[in-house]
Order: sequence, then C-alpha cells, then structure tokens
Amino acid sequence: MSDNGLQHRSDPIEMKFDILAKSGLARHGLLHLAHGAVNTPVFMPVGTQGTMKGILPEQLKEMGCEILLCNTYHLGHRPGPELVKQAGGIHKMMNWDRAILTDSGGFQMVSLSKLMTVDENGVNFQSPHTGEMMALPPEKSIEIQECLGADIIMQLDHVIHVLTTGDIVKEAMERSIRWLDRCVDAHGRKDQALFPIIQGGLDLDQRGFCVREMATRAKVGIAIGGLSGGEDKNSFWRVVAECCKRLNEIAPGLPRYVMGVGFQVDLVICSLLGADMFDCVHPTRVGRFGIAMVKKGGYLKLENKRFKTDFTPIEEGCECQTCKNYSRAYINMVMSKETVGCHLVSIHNLHHQLNLMRNLRKAIDEDKVEDFLRQFLKDYYCNEEIPNWVKDAVDYMGYKID
Ligand SMILES: [Zn+2]
Repeated sequence: MSDNGLQHRSDPIEMKFDILAKSGLARHGLLHLAHGAVNTPVFMPVGTQGTMKGILPEQLKEMGCEILLCNTYHLGHRPGPELVKQAGGIHKMMNWDRAILTDSGGFQMVSLSKLMTVDENGVNFQSPHTGEMMALPPEKSIEIQECLGADIIMQLDHVIHVLTTGDIVKEAMERSIRWLDRCVDAHGRKDQALFPIIQGGLDLDQRGFCVREMATRAKVGIAIGGLSGGEDKNSFWRVVAECCKRLNEIAPGLPRYVMGVGFQVDLVICSLLGADMFDCVHPTRVGRFGIAMVKKGGYLKLENKRFKTDFTPIEEGCECQTCKNYSRAYINMVMSKETVGCHLVSIHNLHHQLNLMRNLRKAIDEDKVEDFLRQFLKDYYCNEEIPNWVKDAVDYMGYKID
C-alpha cells in the first residue's frame, strides 16, 4: 500500500453502475467501487465518529452491509484528516474493507454551528470545539475527503433549509453548481467517485435545471439533496419523482442517492420511483430509545410494560443476532439500565433496514414490485389509513394497492 492509503492505485477498478434488472421505475443495480460492489437500492448505515455507536464492523458485515457512510465533519475535527491519512485511510482505521461514502462536511456545519455564513468562497462557521471562525471552501472539503479515502465523496454544496423560499433558493442552487466545478478541479484521486448534489428546494423547475447541470458533470453517480428537512411528504416524493424522471431522460446510467432518507415507507416509495441509494441515522437513533423497527405497524416501543413478560423475539422469523438470542422481555428489562439494550435494538433495526432492501431487490429481480408494495403497505399501515401522499405516489407509479 502507498503512503496515502490508496489500496488500488496500481490496479484501479473501473467505477461503474450496471443495471441488472428493472421493474416499473425501480432498478436493481450493481455499483462497482474501489472497495467492492454494492447492490442497489441500498440503505447505508451512518457511522458518525468512524463507529456505529456500539456496533462493530464485523456485525455489519454479518448483516450483509456493503457500504456505510462516515461524517467528514466529525472525522475532520477528531482525530483530524491528517491522522486518518497517517493511519492508512478510514477503511484501515476503522477495520472496514468494504465501500464507504463520506459527506462534504457542509451539512453538519450548518446543523451544529451556532454561527454560520456562506459566501462565494465557501462555508464559514464557528468551531463548536474552539469557538474560532473557520472556513470550509470546496477545495478544503475535497482535500479532507481525499485524506479520509472513502470510495464515494460528496461535493460541498450550499445547503439551505428546505422550507426557505425566495431568491436564495436559486442562488444557493447556482452556487452549488459553481462549487461542484471547483470540487472537480481540486479532486485528484482516481479511486474515488465524486457525486454532485442536485439542489433547488421544492421548486420542480429549478430542480429540473439543476438536474441538467449536475448530470452533465457527474461521472459515476449523483445525489438529490436538500430533502428530509421537515418538508411536507407530498412535496418530498414529487421532488424525488421529478429528479428521477429527468435523470431517466438524460443520464439513466447514474445511480441516484437521496440524502437523509431512512423511514421504511420512504425507502420503499423512493426506490420504486427509481432512486438507488439512501442514508439515515434513523435505525440507530430510535434504537437508542428502545424503539424497534418491525414489519407490522412499523415500530415497537420495547420499554412498554406489556413486553415485560413477552418472551418472543422482537420480530418472529427475523434472522438478526438479537432476535436469534434475546426476547422482548429481556430487552425490556435491560433497556433503561444498560447500553446493551440500545445495542441489541440497533442491531435489529439495521438488519431490518438492510433486509427490507434485500427483499425489495428480489421483488425487482422477479418483476413483482406491485405485489411487494401491496404487502408492505398492508403490514406497515395495519392499524391505520394509508396516507394520501403514499396513495398519490402509488397512483403516479401506476400501481393498484386495494
Ligand atoms: Zn431482529
């Protein structure tokens, strides 16, 4: 291995996306990256500080996880990009030899910093560690991500809140295009795929314009950003649908990554609209509160006293290590006292999401996504009415679920 952690420099693999099967608008793809191939549609678990809060890389492998996401902002502060580079890159440092995606660091800055401004040079923010003002221009974001050495890196974009309206939406979108060009110029590593990010708020025309600009610059894949920030679900799915539709026309061979999506129903609807990649902290975040993700009804609050004497697993038939070895009663007992309870639920939740995507890919392979969707919605909304936005999205796709 060379000194900067490049494991494939002498034998660069061809980064490409093969579409193996289609069903309706959905695709089962295989994305070839420096650290192996990734089956899509894929859910990418998020490891914040180079770890998954109590879950080991070995456990993720056992669940069949092929790619995970690491936050540039956190690693950029501690231990710092130079130290990660010295350690041989993020893969070596965290003992994960499969694919990794890093974000640009910009989004975290916006959400964690009290003081944040954006000018043409980049994002300026106050370090929550030292209190001093720091600048993150696009070139710096790429430099950090090159040190970390992930297989997929993200452009720095001008992030605004999704409910922002007015001229700033267009300005931020156009600035993001200029920043992409600076990222491309700054990016030297041939074993990393740089993904542009489509912005444009909830305005479908601006999204359409941005799709065209970003798609002509994208080489391996592309992201749909600026969603999952509290917008209404009707706007959410329509933006995803519009971006996928336009990408189908001009660049069907690019995998599409919808950033920040992790609710089960969102994963299913977006995949069936033609999106391919997703990430979210949702499974581990709710896991910490003892909330398990399940097929029937979506969620189980394991701290509820009705589970005190329930000796069945979280989900009957689940193949995860938690369900194979522990009961709801045990988790209920340890949940409030021990972190082990959080770990057990997080393991189940991550397995649940990865398995949902596995089953979805199988349905695409067999061209049975309509049956899959019908059964999924029946289970998920077993005690309640299917929301209108889901019905509208299903109509748009031309499926019958009644
Ligand atoms: Zn389980």
